Order: sequence, then structure tokens, then C-alpha cells
Amino acid sequence: KIRVFWFRRDMRFEDNVGLYHALSGEFQVLPLFIFDKHILDELPKDDARITFIHDELQKMRSYLQEHHNSSIATYHDTPENAIKQLIEDFEVEAIYTNRDYEPYAQKRDAKIDALLAENGIEFHNFKDQVIFEKTEVEKNDGGMYLVFTPYMKQWKKEFKNIDFKTYPSEDFLDKTYKNTRLPNVSLSDIGFERSSIKVPKHNLDKTLLKDYEETRNIPSIEGTSRLSPYLRFGTIGYRKVIEKALSVKNETFLDELIWREFYKAILYHYPETQDRAFKPKYDRIEWRNNEEDFEKWKSGQTGYPIVDAGMRQLNETGWMHNRLRMVVGSFLCKHLLIDWRWGEAYFAKRLLDYEMSSNVGGWQWVAGSGVDAAPYFRVFNPYSQTDRFDKDKKFIKKWVPEFESDKYPEPMVEHKMARERCLETYKDAVKN
Ligand code: FAD
Repeated sequence: KIRVFWFRRDMRFEDNVGLYHALSGEFQVLPLFIFDKHILDELPKDDARITFIHDELQKMRSYLQEHHNSSIATYHDTPENAIKQLIEDFEVEAIYTNRDYEPYAQKRDAKIDALLAENGIEFHNFKDQVIFEKTEVEKNDGGMYLVFTPYMKQWKKEFKNIDFKTYPSEDFLDKTYKNTRLPNVSLSDIGFERSSIKVPKHNLDKTLLKDYEETRNIPSIEGTSRLSPYLRFGTIGYRKVIEKALSVKNETFLDELIWREFYKAILYHYPETQDRAFKPKYDRIEWRNNEEDFEKWKSGQTGYPIVDAGMRQLNETGWMHNRLRMVVGSFLCKHLLIDWRWGEAYFAKRLLDYEMSSNVGGWQWVAGSGVDAAPYFRVFNPYSQTDRFDKDKKFIKKWVPEFESDKYPEPMVEHKMARERCLETYKDAVKN
């Protein structure tokens, strides 16, 4: 009999909780990855995330082959079918995995749990991608915090009470299943092409973390960690990141990591808000939803250089600076009165770090409809955002070099008119 460890958003050997537990028994452990057809069928064939996942898996595979005479089995199917196949092909004692809190993943795992139970196979899940999950950070009277600051304070309080440690799964890889000829699917087997977009390098240097508070809002410098894609796929261990965050005095970086957990907990508790306003009145907003306007926004042709610079950065690199995510998001929802769900869906397609909880959280924040959101009457002024965060226009010059020439479009809407139109529309929706 063998055990299986199923990699999902935890694609690493180091400090992997579920893998650590799987390896700590008497059985050899077969590592598994499933290219989920339900997810892949929705993606364009040159999706950069699939290239990234594929390459990471190949690296992991080669590592196991070279050092441990073992491998990773990769399947391309629905998770149900892949698991059925796996338990037909091997005598499986139990499947180990790390918990995933997204609504789709919750349903998927419930199905797999039932399928395995029918076959007398255990399914073990562990907490790996967050410090606190589900109801672990709650108000004193129970219930989820709906405002970030008290959640963050409680998170820090609870953190002092836990036995914070890492899990040295990497030290037990010799227990992986001794077979180098496991099923393996290539990019072309799953119908994908290699993308030219590469995941940016991350930076967790002490200097970056120390200066983070000053640098993090300036898009023209590399003042943020760019950890987001790595955290999304778990190619870097979260507890190591937390350790780094704790190693500097300033807590701003830690607080951002706590925002990530906050949004995860919100989506876990309120899965319906993946496509519904957290504050129901905001679903009464009469969006203009003009398709042509949406195209201009997507392609970075709005005539607002700071907005266009952000959108072009996203289109070309698969990543966008947080300040600009707020600026372009506010512009879409408030200046153009386009439903935040359209923006959310576009980001979901393009972002290497796409994470439903943070993306929906971020979009509902800019739209004003979410938990602890920007008040609706706060309409970001693209010009004053430029003055504050890109004063010498370094970022704009990089991404919109033609911005002062006659090749560049006029602003697609006039700021003052758009602001007033937005306030009236929102006021109508949220009254009484
Ligand atoms: P750093 O500033 O170095 O922060 C470190 C880590 O903290 C990030 O990697 C991320 O995991 C977390 N973090 C930082 N800011 C936030 C935040 N506001 N909310 C939640 N977590 C945060 N982040 C995603 O990971 N995926 C998304 O799909 C996503 N969509 C967003 C959409 C909108 C409209 C907005 C306003 C924000 C969104 N964010 C999203 C949050 C944030 O913009 C990114 O996490 C950040 O820009 C990633 O760059 P970084 O790793 O250099 O961040």
C-alpha cells in the first residue's frame, strides 16, 4: 500500500504541512498533481500561470528523480476521474492534502472525500497556507470581524498564543514512492502553449522589508516583495515569509500579509460574495456597463496616463502594483460606472497572482461594496494620485511613452463630470 500527497496550491517540498504528515508514517508517499479540466477548460491556451505551474512541477519531478529515485504523477482530468484512476492503478491507503478555502475547492474536496469514503480510503487535510483559518480569529462574542483593524489586532494577539513552527517535510523525501516512471503530462498534452510572460522575481531582503512603508506606494520602484504569485501557488512557504516579516521592527509588511488572511476568512464565511456585493444595497447600482469604454480601459487607452500605465503593466507582465490596482479599479467602477465584477473577471484572467479572495476583496473595496471598503464618495482623482505617487512621471513614461504626444487619446471622460455622475448614481442606489 502507498500513501498519496496531492499538491494543489502548495507546490513545494519545504515546510509543507500536509506533505510532512504524509511522510511521517510507515508508507511510501506518491506525490500527485492534477491539471484540473474544470479549471483549464476556461483558460486561454497561452495562460502564463499554466506555464509556471508546469515548469515548477518539472523542476520538482527532476529533483525527486535525481535525489530520491522517485517522481510526481501528473494527470490531466477532472479531479474525480483522476482520483478514480489513481485508486484503480495503485493500492492507496490514504490521500493527504492541504486545505483550500475557495468556494470551488470546498465543493471539489467534499466530492473527493465522499468518493474516497466509498472506497474505504481516508482523506486528510491540513492547514498550510494561512496562520489562522476559518473561525480561528473571531470576535469575542463569536462571528467574523468585518473590519480589518480589529481583525489584525486579534490576529496578533492570537499569534502570541500559538506554537509557531515550521514543518521540515523536505527532510523526509526519502520516503517518497520509489518509482521514476509515473504518469507525466506535458504542456502540449494538456493543450497549452508556452507563455512569454514570466513570473517576476521576488524580493524579501531585509532592506526591502525595512523600507517597505516608504517604498510600497511608489510604482516606479521595486518597493514591494512581488511575492503574490509565489504565495498563490505555494512555491514559497508562508511561514518563512511570516518569519521574515517578524524580523523587522516595522509591522506594515506583516499587516499586508494579514490582509491576505482577512480576505480569505471573509470569502470562506461569505462565499456568495464572490459575485454579490457584500453590502446588498450596492447591487442596486445602475452600472452603465458600456462595452466600448470597457475595451479602452482593458487596453490602456483611457487617456488617463496613470490608469493606462497600470493596465499596460498588467497586460504585458501579468502583475500590477497595488497602488495602481486601486487607481484602475476606482476608475472602472466610479469614472466609467462599470460593474466591479467585470473588472474582477478581467484581473482573474490576467493576474499571475490571481487569488479569488484578495481579488474580490480588492474589487469590492474599490467599488465601495465590500467589508471595510473605501466610502463610496471617495473617488480617486487620477491626477492627484499621479502627483502623490508618480510625481516625476517615471512610471508613466515607462509604460505610456507617448502620453504627451498627439498619438495619445484625449481623456475618455472628463474627471469632474464623471465624479458627479458617480456620486449621483451611488447615492440613488444606497439611499434608505
Ligand atoms: P507586497 O506589498 O510585497 O505584500 C506582500 C504580500 O501581502 C502580497 O504578496 C500579498 O499576498 C499580501 N497583500 C498585500 N496587499 C494585499 C491586499 N491589499 N490584500 C490582500 N493581500 C495583500 N492580491 C493577490 O494576491 N491576488 C489578487 O488577485 C489581488 N487582486 C487585487 C485586486 C484589487 C482591485 C486590489 C486593489 C488589490 C488586489 N490584490 C491582490 C492585493 C495586492 O494588490 C497584491 O497582493 C499585491 O500588489 C501583490 O504584490 P506584492 O507581492 O509585491 O505585495
